[in-house]
Amino acid sequence: MLNLVLFGPPGAGKGTQSEKLIEKYQLVHLSTGDILRSEISNGTALGLEAKKLMDQGVLVPDEVVIGMISNKLDANKDARGFIFDGFPRTVAQAEALDSLLTSKSSAISGMIALVVEPVELEKRLLLRGKDSGRPDDANPEIIRKRISEYNSKTAPVANYYKDQNKLTSINGIGSIDEIFSSICAVMDTY
Ligand code: AMP
Repeated sequence: MLNLVLFGPPGAGKGTQSEKLIEKYQLVHLSTGDILRSEISNGTALGLEAKKLMDQGVLVPDEVVIGMISNKLDANKDARGFIFDGFPRTVAQAEALDSLLTSKSSAISGMIALVVEPVELEKRLLLRGKDSGRPDDANPEIIRKRISEYNSKTAPVANYYKDQNKLTSINGIGSIDEIFSSICAVMDTY
């Protein structure tokens, strides 16, 4: 199995690159943000609770997203592998993911981190907010909160994979195709 953690701050291009990667490598895309937004549009209890936090730009509790990922792994038993996008976002989530994969005799192949500086992220997110319909993309204050959540809780996850010799950082500035080929060059080493 090929299991990629596609990592980077909000607005780094994880969603865009994931779409291209699943097509090329025939993997299942697991985006916890997308799963949470689908819970919200289905009006589930989990979605309603998560929405309050997402609208403020803060993370939802670890056990909620870990439970969602566990269900998706079980629902895709025949997958060739997964792209984890927006997950894990805390070290506790990374540890839980390792246990889940170990219990399925699998493991993370590697983490690819897209590096983009904060000024560019804010610009991209505000632009995306114009037609994404995402309330958390439309407000500069919420965007800054998301970036600060990323810096305090999520950035340490890169070290978690670095310590396992699984981290590769890639410049996330450039054309979509340029960044995609840099990612593919790493994928092909897995
Ligand atoms: P995203 O679509 O990845 O930008 O996520 C949107 C929002 O969903 C985040 O700001 C969080 O509130 C929530 N979220 C998504 N993934 C996670 C996660 N792995 N852990 C905690 N909260 C998450």
